[in-house]
Amino acid sequence: MSAATAVAPVLEGRDLTKYFWVKQGRGPLARRVPIHAVERVSVRLDAGKVTAIVGESGAGKTTVARMLAKIIRPDAGQLLLDGRPAPGGRPRSYAAQVQMILQDPFASLNPVHRVRHHLIRPLEIHHMAHGNVDAAVADLLRRVALEPPDNFTGKFPHELSGGQRQRVAIARALAVRPRVLIADEPVSMLDVSIRLGVLNLLADLRDREHLAILYITHDIASARYLADTIIVMYAGKLVEAAPSVSLTDNPAHPYTQLLLSAAPDPDRVQTPALSARGAPPSLLALPSGCRFHPRCPHVMDVCRRQVPPSIAISSGHTAACWLHVDPAQRQASENGLLATATAQGPANHADAGSGSLGKDSKKR
Ligand code: SF4
Repeated sequence: MSAATAVAPVLEGRDLTKYFWVKQGRGPLARRVPIHAVERVSVRLDAGKVTAIVGESGAGKTTVARMLAKIIRPDAGQLLLDGRPAPGGRPRSYAAQVQMILQDPFASLNPVHRVRHHLIRPLEIHHMAHGNVDAAVADLLRRVALEPPDNFTGKFPHELSGGQRQRVAIARALAVRPRVLIADEPVSMLDVSIRLGVLNLLADLRDREHLAILYITHDIASARYLADTIIVMYAGKLVEAAPSVSLTDNPAHPYTQLLLSAAPDPDRVQTPALSARGAPPSLLALPSGCRFHPRCPHVMDVCRRQVPPSIAISSGHTAACWLHVDPAQRQASENGLLATATAQGPANHADAGSGSLGKDSKKR
């Protein structure tokens, strides 16, 4: 293992799992059923790197972000801060180190308070308002390129543009000197013309201040632009993870290929052929085997029966897809499952085979 890979990530989530319970039916027939929001998702956030989580609505991206920020508690899995188990609960020291930027800058700032108040408040809450607080506010505004600061400190949120509001929200997160920024769709509600400025600001914070950044998005093109590593989620599961160039140049999972074919590309001369169809499944009634199988153009019998294992495609690049399992191993796995099913009678094979195979990576 090289020295670079031996450094513990600032924040790491291992096998994070979260179910939400909802009531179905009425009266005596009512029952509580689980929503499989996130199942066994691992993510590491390194200093000076941006990690993106990409997927459609309902993929579980925000739930992962909230578990990492300790806003919600995982049902299973582990959170590590600097390689050690994170403290229980959500102590102030953890909240200061791991800050979250929300999607909607219009709602995340209190409309009755001026910018100065929004930036001083976290300093007061975290007992960091020492010395010249106005100088601290001016410094925060400069760090998010709102200059000259005096033009902004006295303004109310409604007097700012969407991009300026999101910059104030980022400055507020920076006030307590975090080491991790979790940005949940930070540009999706902004005009296209000002999105690039906010993405460049996040890149600048990564490079200049060495922050570990998690960027949540449904836009794989912006993830490629900003992120060092991309994780693709589908229906609560991690389906592919790789360095961003490797993932976007050589997508291994059919769902990633679908996302890329739907992304705008000025260099593309032909209209993309969207070979996958349909919509993501209900998290209350997930398909057996591979959750993407009802939409997948490459679906095989084994996909309908068994959860695909995570396979190493190349260095740092993994994909959970039966296409990348050696055909002999795939057949052996399916034969074993059928033999077990015959011996034991009808069974639910939805989770059989998960992670059961080795790392041999051969394409069909
Ligand atoms: Fe498609 Fe099968 Fe791969 Fe799932 S496991 S993405 S259904 S080929």
